[in-house]
Amino acid sequence: MAYRRPLAKDIQRIKGPTAPRKRFENFEETRAIASETIESAVCHPLTNTSQNKILEDYEHSVKGSFDKIVPVLKSISSIQNSNDFILQAQKLAIEELGFELPLHVLEKAWVRPLDMRALFAWSVFQAHQKASAEFFNSDPLNGSEKSPLAKKFQSFLLECGFHLLDVTPCSDGRLAHSIAYAMRIPFSSVRRRSHAGALFDIERTVNRWIKTEHKRFRENMPNEAHTPTRYLKVVTYHFSSIDPKHQGCAAHGSDDVLAAKAGFQRLLDFRKAVENSFCCGASVDLLLIGLDTDTDSIRIHVPDKDSKTDLSSWVSSQDLYRLTHHLSASMALKKIKEVIKQKSTGNTEVGMINFIAKLIENNFSQIDYVRHLHSGPYPDAGHAERFIGVGIGFKEVHLRNLTYFAHLDTVEEGAPDLDVGIKIFKGLNVIRDLPIPVVIRFDYSGRVPGERERAIDDCLRVRNAISNRYRSLVDDGLLHTLLTIRDRDLKDPAEVVGSSLDSIPKEAH
Ligand SMILES: [Zn+2]
Repeated sequence: MAYRRPLAKDIQRIKGPTAPRKRFENFEETRAIASETIESAVCHPLTNTSQNKILEDYEHSVKGSFDKIVPVLKSISSIQNSNDFILQAQKLAIEELGFELPLHVLEKAWVRPLDMRALFAWSVFQAHQKASAEFFNSDPLNGSEKSPLAKKFQSFLLECGFHLLDVTPCSDGRLAHSIAYAMRIPFSSVRRRSHAGALFDIERTVNRWIKTEHKRFRENMPNEAHTPTRYLKVVTYHFSSIDPKHQGCAAHGSDDVLAAKAGFQRLLDFRKAVENSFCCGASVDLLLIGLDTDTDSIRIHVPDKDSKTDLSSWVSSQDLYRLTHHLSASMALKKIKEVIKQKSTGNTEVGMINFIAKLIENNFSQIDYVRHLHSGPYPDAGHAERFIGVGIGFKEVHLRNLTYFAHLDTVEEGAPDLDVGIKIFKGLNVIRDLPIPVVIRFDYSGRVPGERERAIDDCLRVRNAISNRYRSLVDDGLLHTLLTIRDRDLKDPAEVVGSSLDSIPKEAH
């Protein structure tokens, strides 16, 4: 597959040729499991191969547009002293990348060396905008509210006894695809908020819970308030089966026991906050999931009917895959449910068992996806993100290792998340003399008067705070920002409201 080669090359370039995978203590073991998961090309009977093809094409197309940037810029750099340089450069950029380069940067080529850092950041921003526009205009993942897949999943969720699914994965870019790929949930059927270490903001989640319950009460959406369904809050922590001590969650020192414990404590605190404030804790269910960033297999800690959860016990999709591969689809599903029941620490609701079984079933498709695409586990065990996403939004980002998220209102509040992101990108980009591309995003509601203007102000405020915090990187042209806003009530792509690459910079407030 054409996609596999550039990705592996990319990783080699980042890590250097002297970083053989054998140094990872569990590499051979994980590869053996991932490949033995079946030596032949046969997929699990529950695997959705047609969906895998759609997802592969999408990943190939989006990541491919980012990965073309460096080779094309190298070609452009080599012709910067030719007479018709601007003409040639634009021709190459349009043909190979699909967009023009900024004229005010190209025009300086005769008097000083071409600012390749600016061209790189510009190209990353353009690739992001292109992917963002495609996502909202043509729904390539079939996950929008109108898609039959989303409608089906929404009904299934209600049947399981949940009126809202709210998932917090870690902000690590290796989990950015956890909804649309690893768990195969239509993106419109879930509220996703990524946070470092999957440690979500309790107050904001309580607010979201209030909004959800209020909507049920006022509008019967998605169902009537008196129907005994619950708000399901999920935390997805992560670990690395190949290199558990180094490639796990940075926020928890690569300690998966700690990651699970901290994530579950946050869930308990959220439920307590709802119970203490509204005396209706029964309407909140909790679920803890672990994701192996090397194989995308998941492990689910089966809760009892009161959300009591044993952190040292789980159902593993990898184990269940092997256990059920030889069975028919219906027998495999039956077996999955049996094992989930066995792992339950008490009475687990039937709806919860069905929901967990669905996640396991969906994850089988992802296990086959990774296995077939890479002939084993992912070749990029570590970070390989293309840009940092800062602010509130990014509904369109669903690919692994594309974006490091720092969800924040203010840089002061989100500084730890952002510092981790900058550190990661120093290793990915700055070490190669390339800048860190930072896309700032603030979603707003067009229904609320003045909120669009406030979103623009938020972008400028965060941009200025980033410039102050990482002053030397900005001064050296090693950090560039793109400011974007998006009306969350519409299906339109994000709108660009400024960039550090503007020929005339917008005035800071
Ligand atoms: Zn993490």
